Amino acid sequence: MWPQDSRTSPSLSAALATTVTRSLADAEPTCWWLDDEDRPDAHEPLTGTTTADLVVVGGGYSGLWTALLAKQYNPARDVVLLEGRTIGWAASGRNGGFCSASLTHGQANGLDWYPADMPRLERLGRENLAGILGTISDFAIDCKMEQTGELRVATQPYQLDDIAADFQTMLDFGDDAVLLDAEQTRAQLNSPTYLGGVWDRDKTVLVDPARLAWGLADACRTLGVRIHENSHVSTMDREGDTMVLATDHGSVQTDRVALGTNVFPSLLKRVRPYVIPVYDYVMATEPLTREQLTAIGWSGRQGVGDSGNQFHYYRLTDDNCILWGGYDAIYHFGSRIDPAFDQRLSTFRVLAEHFFTTFPQLDGIRFTHTWGGAIDTCSRFFPFFGTGFGGRVAHATGYTGLGVGATRFGAQVMLDLLSGKRTELTSLPSVRGKPVPFPPEPLRSGVVNLTRWSVARADEKQGKRNLWLKTLDRFGLGFDS
Ligand SMILES: Cc1cc2nc3c(=O)[nH]c(=O)nc-3n(C[C@H](O)[C@H](O)[C@H](O)COP(=O)(O)OP(=O)(O)OC[C@H]3O[C@@H](n4cnc5c(N)ncnc54)[C@H](O)[C@@H]3O)c2cc1C
Repeated sequence: MWPQDSRTSPSLSAALATTVTRSLADAEPTCWWLDDEDRPDAHEPLTGTTTADLVVVGGGYSGLWTALLAKQYNPARDVVLLEGRTIGWAASGRNGGFCSASLTHGQANGLDWYPADMPRLERLGRENLAGILGTISDFAIDCKMEQTGELRVATQPYQLDDIAADFQTMLDFGDDAVLLDAEQTRAQLNSPTYLGGVWDRDKTVLVDPARLAWGLADACRTLGVRIHENSHVSTMDREGDTMVLATDHGSVQTDRVALGTNVFPSLLKRVRPYVIPVYDYVMATEPLTREQLTAIGWSGRQGVGDSGNQFHYYRLTDDNCILWGGYDAIYHFGSRIDPAFDQRLSTFRVLAEHFFTTFPQLDGIRFTHTWGGAIDTCSRFFPFFGTGFGGRVAHATGYTGLGVGATRFGAQVMLDLLSGKRTELTSLPSVRGKPVPFPPEPLRSGVVNLTRWSVARADEKQGKRNLWLKTLDRFGLGFDS
């Protein structure tokens, strides 16, 4: 448990409280990545009627990878992509930019679910990451990619055992990982809170997420994908052998549909009970001065995560701002998604407290941006797939906070499912299996809030899990951002 949390610890020092208040005073309530002068103009909305071989719904990574790969597999295929707002405005443009090879939300979670299949899933995950890097290079996507790996740090003694176990698993799967003691961890990044760490050097790359989305859209256009933004699909119906999708000002008739709509209500209604929106929050500092950088080190520029159930993730941007997010995971009754939820001052204050506890050397630094976003959380923490309308429609969702890399894999799965053929991917038990659905309200919020409360208590009690969490563990269920 983090010692300073003004919501639970009235003893927060007056000095720290003042530092926090000052640090947030000028922050813009907007996403750092999307606040970019190179942000491209939107494509024209769909108007009138048209036809296509494949319609992709959603202009985040899921949709963009699906459209791009569809064209690469078959350049003659006529592909239309419909995005309700603008390319990358949602999770894809506002995430932490940790692009991981893991397809299972980490090795430990994958081993819980599909132990026998993990060697294959790890291999596919590596191939997937290599495919992403290949596309970034082939299309010269300027997404500030850095191959620095991920450093996971322990800030409580009990977390050292977890880190050692994870290190062994990494070695078993052939990762290029090193286990670090407190001094070695602090030599990488200097925080008095660090007790040890593990640095997985080749399974995660860092990207500017919005630029990756915009670059993928450019690549799609280069290959001939017709992109329409501000084109929300309100209905999807079958007419004979074809599907018809309608937007406010147009419609498209198509053979096949791929849904990359993530946390938003699926056009396949039966998918909806499997995913809930959980809000995650992020902040960015002003650029660090040379002196501030020297004070914390971080010459390896790794992406960093700490090891509590409620964890923080953080990284440097290419111009040396620190992006700092995570910890709170907020669910709203009725699975509501609302732009008003993108800002949450009480969470930003707690995140700032934790930031200055981690880096007291940075006392006085200001946050310039605060934002949040909804994560498509499912009970097994990694994506699930399916089809509808007699195999004419496929979906991939449930990435649960680790979709920057895995969405490309999800796109391949959707295309394989739509082909109707049995392939290596469609035969995977993890692709054929499904998570447990969430119960309807009001039970849903009861379950989610009890789980959140239990997770916070576990962090306070040296990781000790209560009866509720143990029961969920027994059934392989959970709740995470
Ligand atoms: C704050 C935050 C931090 C994160 N950090 C990380 C991280 O560091 N690493 C990581 O791996 N993952 C992270 N994630 C998760 C990751 O961003 C997502 O898994 C990934 O972006 C999902 O991509 P997507 O295309 O499926 O969804 P989205 O990017 O949400 O795109 C879905 C799109 O579908 C559109 N849409 C929905 N319904 C319709 C409709 N009916 N008609 C037309 N369009 C529609 C939406 O407008 C939206 O643009 C984070 C997420 C958040 C919110």
